[in-house]
Amino acid sequence: MSKILIRNAFTVKRLLGLGSDDRVTIHVATENNRIASVSEQPIEGHFDSVIDATGLFLSPGLVDPQVHFREPGSEYKEDIESGSKAAVKGGFTSVISMPNTRPTADNPEVVAFMANRSKKLGICKVYPTGALSMGLAGQTMTDFAALKEAGAVAITDDGKGVQDDKLFLQALRSARQLNLPVLDHSEDESLSNGGAIHEGDISRKFGLKGIKANSESMHVERGCRMSEETGAHYHVLHISTRESIDAVRFAKAKGIPVTAEVSPHHLLLCDEDIRLRKDNSLDANWKMNPPLRSRADKEACQQALLDGTIDAIATDHAPHSPTEKAQPIESAPFGIIGLETAFPLIYSHFVRTGQLSLGSCIDLMSKQAGALFNLECGRIQVGAAADLCLLDLETAFVVCDKFFASKSTNSPFIGETLYGRTRMTMTEGRVVYT
Ligand SMILES: [Zn+2]
Repeated sequence: MSKILIRNAFTVKRLLGLGSDDRVTIHVATENNRIASVSEQPIEGHFDSVIDATGLFLSPGLVDPQVHFREPGSEYKEDIESGSKAAVKGGFTSVISMPNTRPTADNPEVVAFMANRSKKLGICKVYPTGALSMGLAGQTMTDFAALKEAGAVAITDDGKGVQDDKLFLQALRSARQLNLPVLDHSEDESLSNGGAIHEGDISRKFGLKGIKANSESMHVERGCRMSEETGAHYHVLHISTRESIDAVRFAKAKGIPVTAEVSPHHLLLCDEDIRLRKDNSLDANWKMNPPLRSRADKEACQQALLDGTIDAIATDHAPHSPTEKAQPIESAPFGIIGLETAFPLIYSHFVRTGQLSLGSCIDLMSKQAGALFNLECGRIQVGAAADLCLLDLETAFVVCDKFFASKSTNSPFIGETLYGRTRMTMTEGRVVYT
């Protein structure tokens, strides 16, 4: 039996389930794994520990719809323990992990391993997904019911687009029957064509094969159409282009069950921002899939975030070793880490600048992100799981490679001055980061 009191924090009323975005001083007591009381008046009683949160913002634990924790198979990049530590350092208490491990999470054993490993660690809740096709090969569908039974909260071939239209339609039909969302890494490979960065002025300037913008939107349009046909929940992972956003906006207006997430890097960077190495080649820490797009695409992502077309923010946390990322951009692997910088980036660039309210920012990173998977979260209310974090909105800090709890440091945001560092994270009533 453990009782903890967090006193003198501030939050916004919306996160207490009270509607408005007014700020309010708050005291919260937890008992075991639940929130036991929430009050604007000081809470009396005996507690095993008391956390003085004066000046800090109390938020529901954040939820990330897309991370790659690399275990099993590539533990030198990240494992479930180091990934979980990176998550809670970023204020996340729940993450959804992608199936592109080695072996692939295309069978109940691997899915159950991921779920059990994270339960045993007790740092961050890791909800696995199951692969859509065996080995992510895009040919034979997996057993969705068995994957769900083992703990999968969604079906996805993330890391690869599903090229076969018939297979994708069949997957949506089956997922619909099991009430599982299908998460789509939308990429038509005939149009991405083995490129390393977005096809545009920068790819042409450096003589690199480019990934066409419509390699994404063609698949997003397909997914929206098939979602309408089947009634399945179709979710677009890491959306990055204006045409994809237009397709989602159109589908939502028609009432089709389509959702979309965007990553901080697609909101804040474009292909013009890819940094040069000393030898004037492009730095692979700015390489991910989908790639950093054009400035117009970045602005379309920002607009979609602010007008509510976007349902959630996802990091697509994808660790790789320094040696792998030191390769030429053509051959280096895709992906950047993101768990520890996500909230500070969104807070510093959108909330602090007055474009997005603090309540909306947190909803995009908790309640709405969890709702994609039918997870109840995102509110500081009596009886809810005691998944909470304290964020420092006032003290500036500089992101450096020592900052990361992740095993990897492949981030294009090293050197940035940000606000919103985590001071404490609690998962199920246990303090897991201070
Ligand atoms: Zn992906």
